Amino acid sequence: MPEPRRGRPADAALVTLGVLNDLKSDAAQAVLLLGELRGLTKWSDETLCAQLHCDFDKWTQVGGADTKDEAALKHSLLFLTLVRDATQRVDLVADRRQVVNAAVELCHDAGGLVVERAPRMRDALEHAPAGDLTPFDLISLGEIGRAWRSAALHVRSGPAYERAAAATRLTAPVAAQTAHLTPERLLLLAGSKPKDLLGPNVSKHMAKHLLFCPKCKRLAESMDLHELIRSEDLLDPDELSHPVAA
Ligand SMILES: [Zn+2]
Repeated sequence: MPEPRRGRPADAALVTLGVLNDLKSDAAQAVLLLGELRGLTKWSDETLCAQLHCDFDKWTQVGGADTKDEAALKHSLLFLTLVRDATQRVDLVADRRQVVNAAVELCHDAGGLVVERAPRMRDALEHAPAGDLTPFDLISLGEIGRAWRSAALHVRSGPAYERAAAATRLTAPVAAQTAHLTPERLLLLAGSKPKDLLGPNVSKHMAKHLLFCPKCKRLAESMDLHELIRSEDLLDPDELSHPVAA
């Protein structure tokens, strides 16, 4: 058997488990997802696994034929898939790392049975509070902190929910009027390098969002960023004639 290369446990696992023979196996899925996340976050395998609180040795054990804890394994795959789906919505490595860390924190603090947390988290990320955006939409706008606070509110139990509920009670009087986009990020969007500083897809989503969201439009106008609302260079011509929600 070839010597595993130092610092690349995912490669070693590909060899050890023979997962290339069965890309649908749980071990292969895990290795592929971890590889995607490694590419997205530019973390080493060790750092990625440390951030995810996942033990690569455990994967190599459970990835084989006889797994003792099928439910935990399935949950880990659901969680890694969710983290990948959330992370690839933003462009910048720093933003992607923030998304991974926030997902791990919410999973840790979601309360209830561990094996039910990833499905609850996905449900929360896809849930739009009445007349508002889903947390997934907020992540696409680069509003990562807000997205995960909103998701935490919808998981409905656990320390993360308690923290988000307490913060929401404080901001409740102005919540209905609060824009989705923060003033700091609107200024970056209006600056000379929005694609570099916010990411190409995120800045495009923000510009598109400004076309239809009255609350964010109002904030941009109050900041004298009138030009931004008509910022055509951030959008494709067909998007200007057919504004798309979120
Ligand atoms: Zn908005």
